[in-house]
Amino acid sequence: MTVKDFKYVIAGGGVAAGYAAKEFAKQGVKPGELAVISKEAVAPYERPALSKAYLFPEGFARLPGFHVCVGSGGERQPPEWYKENGIELILSTEIVKADLAGKTLTSAAGDTFKYQTLIIATGSSVIRLTDFGVQGADSKNIFYLREIDDADKLVDAIKAKKNGKCVIVGGGYIGLEISAVMKMNNVDVTTVYPEPWCMPRLFTAELAAFYEGYYSNKGINIIKGTVAAGFTADANGDVKEVKLKDGRVLEANIVVVGVGARPLINLFKGQLQEEKGGIKTDGFFKTSNPDVYAVGDVATFPLKLYSEIRRVEHVDHARKSAEQAVKALKASEKGKSIEEYDYLPYFYSRSFDLSWQFYGDNVGETVIFGDNNPAAPKAKFGTYWTKDGKVVGAFLESGTPEENKAIAKVARAQPPVESLEKLKAEGLTFATKF
Ligand code: FAD
Repeated sequence: MTVKDFKYVIAGGGVAAGYAAKEFAKQGVKPGELAVISKEAVAPYERPALSKAYLFPEGFARLPGFHVCVGSGGERQPPEWYKENGIELILSTEIVKADLAGKTLTSAAGDTFKYQTLIIATGSSVIRLTDFGVQGADSKNIFYLREIDDADKLVDAIKAKKNGKCVIVGGGYIGLEISAVMKMNNVDVTTVYPEPWCMPRLFTAELAAFYEGYYSNKGINIIKGTVAAGFTADANGDVKEVKLKDGRVLEANIVVVGVGARPLINLFKGQLQEEKGGIKTDGFFKTSNPDVYAVGDVATFPLKLYSEIRRVEHVDHARKSAEQAVKALKASEKGKSIEEYDYLPYFYSRSFDLSWQFYGDNVGETVIFGDNNPAAPKAKFGTYWTKDGKVVGAFLESGTPEENKAIAKVARAQPPVESLEKLKAEGLTFATKF
């Protein structure tokens, strides 16, 4: 059992940790000052790849190809990068205890890590059906997707069950992306979710109708308005059937569950203020303990644009919050300060040859514009959200980089609109001429 002492420790080794390390390297850290401690066996990587190119049947992504920061066009940081920058990358090491008063972390192996400043970047863990006692949910070949190990198990199952039958549980972006990629692997796919349409937290009924139509045209069977209530397994314990609450039974030899995630904050329970399920921070990602920062999925922070506090589980925020925290802590060491975080929410997803981006807030009234016929050879459409006579959110499918920049600009600027009819008629031009 060892005791190691660092000036800075980043707890967690995902997206936010990798981007924080990049910012430390940019600002300057002395060899041995900074450690990144991760439960995973690999250096920080761009997690969104796991439900996309990692699962492709051909031309698939593999490490070291998608280590951070390639997802934002930055330098790739393989393990050697950490060495070259004097950053200690401590992998396959789970922190099981955090004593913030004693400024000490303890690993599962009993090693101790001391720090002066801690950055919490532990991300989220998936919600499992076993958490709710769903019958048979512990059968083999029921998969979740959060870390690279999970993706490797799914890749093995796809290979082992060539031309198999897969049921995807969940209609969020993970469920939709995995449904698409399973279909690309020539697997028979049924996607099940309880809501009246997919991605209900963001999509309007009209937006969802396009994606559901497109998926159906690709041969994906969608079952809405019910949930997986149980599973049966064969004599080997391999999943064989999914029993739906509405009484239907689906054959399956692969099940992938994407029903949400929970921020991993248990280690810090009772030691830091919490809000909205996350660790409460200020606009510099400093927590209620002045020597502790929290970034990425775990942080509940002030979203200046909307005068609200929110937690955001998306990669863009993980990157930006990490950079903000490191800039802020480095500035404070010099007695300086930086501008408060001023985030514009940004989400995206890709599946088949579709690609959408959303910026801003999805509140208020909506108008859809463009061609959203799922049978169109190249559908292109979008939606604006308006509130109090202003555009507050914008969504675009199959936009060019310039068009995506334009909708981002509109969502940030919140220009007034004369009428919803005019906005609908102008469509994308409203943003591009802005
Ligand atoms: P993570 O990247 O999850 O990193 C947390 C790290 O901490 C992990 O390495 C974990 O092992 C480690 N850790 C946790 N607890 C401990 C511990 N006790 N000790 C040591 N290490 C620990 N967002 C989008 O905007 N667009 C997308 O298309 C998109 N696709 C996604 C696809 C998948 C399959 C998944 C899982 C997520 C996707 N996301 C997407 C969400 C995005 O990846 C996350 O919001 C982002 O990774 C959060 O970054 P983070 O650093 O906070 O957490």
